[in-house]
Amino acid sequence: MKHKITLIPGDGIGPEITEATVKVIEATGVDISWDTVNAGAEVYEKEGTVLPQRVIDSLQNHRVGIKGPITTPVGTGFRSVNVAMRKMFNLYACLRPCKSYPGVRSRYKDIDLIVVRENTEDLYAGIEFEKGKKETIDLIDFIKNKKDEEIRKDSGISIKPISVKGTEKIVRFAFEYARENNRKKVTGVHKANIMKYSDGLFLDTFRKIAKEYDDIESEDRIVDNMCMQLVQKPELYDVLVLPNLYGDIISDLAAGLVGGLGVAPGGNIGKDIALFEPTHGSAPKYKGKNKVNPTAMMLSGVLMLKYIGEKGCADLLESAIASNIKEGKYVTYDFKKDRNDPTAVGTKEYADAIINKINKIK
Ligand code: NAD
Repeated sequence: MKHKITLIPGDGIGPEITEATVKVIEATGVDISWDTVNAGAEVYEKEGTVLPQRVIDSLQNHRVGIKGPITTPVGTGFRSVNVAMRKMFNLYACLRPCKSYPGVRSRYKDIDLIVVRENTEDLYAGIEFEKGKKETIDLIDFIKNKKDEEIRKDSGISIKPISVKGTEKIVRFAFEYARENNRKKVTGVHKANIMKYSDGLFLDTFRKIAKEYDDIESEDRIVDNMCMQLVQKPELYDVLVLPNLYGDIISDLAAGLVGGLGVAPGGNIGKDIALFEPTHGSAPKYKGKNKVNPTAMMLSGVLMLKYIGEKGCADLLESAIASNIKEGKYVTYDFKKDRNDPTAVGTKEYADAIINKINKIK
């Protein structure tokens, strides 16, 4: 086999959309052998851990994985398996393309945005101080002593670290992506006017790195203005690069511009390991119903195929998905004007329709 890939079906609707995705990827003719391992709530019930060592070993060995969504169980040591894996493998870049496919219901058309979100720093670093704890009171006293700034004693505090090294890596990632994919412009997004030492550092570093890429246009936007601009004139933007929190929010906004979570793929990418996954969650209420839309995971498969150098198969799969959505006949309920439309097909039948398209295009 040419490629060995870690496959994590996840839970909730994860296994159904994973099965549909594997079928369409294999139909492209790509030579992949899957190492299927699972993580998440259902594994926790049997084994007492949400992230077994064999999952870690598999991704460490094969360097590339694709996963279904995983429910975040309440009351265990991990905040979330997803966040844990991103941290463990230093998957510092979250790549979220948001593209209009004719046939998807949306207020906009012809959108083709790439959101590059920093995945490890910022308010998501998980450094938090709980209200009332001694360490929190100590920190409040320390800030009073050092900065002469008063923080109310009944505050909770979350720390926002943004480093030069982390920012250089994510900004370079965005410019390299732009170069490799014939993109014209990278926009750095921040709130440097208010947070001078975290977002200010992000902006300074962005400007410094942008100079190394003089073949690509660069500009910056303040995040609140960016939100308005994206809603008013999204066609002006191309690749966006953002710190973690703004990246999280703007990537959902951008997904909304192109029709929502059902068509929003993602990749978490590190120095030499990458894990692809849909943006949406495990939608537990639809579990096992053969009802949900597997497109976001299939498009994550397109990103994965490109990443492993199988551009021909990636383009074939994307064209088949686009053609099936445009035709609008064999699509899941959420693509229909009326969600109760009885002509909507299930997850499996949707995958079969895409396989038919692949075979026709081939
Ligand atoms: P969700 O994305 O699962 O669901 C949000 C809404 O979108 C629901 O109405 C759902 O039914 C619908 N939906 C989601 N995916 C769909 C699809 N493919 N086709 C059709 N409809 C779809 O978000 P949630 O309800 O907030 O989260 C459920 C669980 O998923 C939580 O435990 C959360 O922690 C987890 N989660 C996991 C990931 C991940 O694994 N990366 C991401 C987000 C949420």
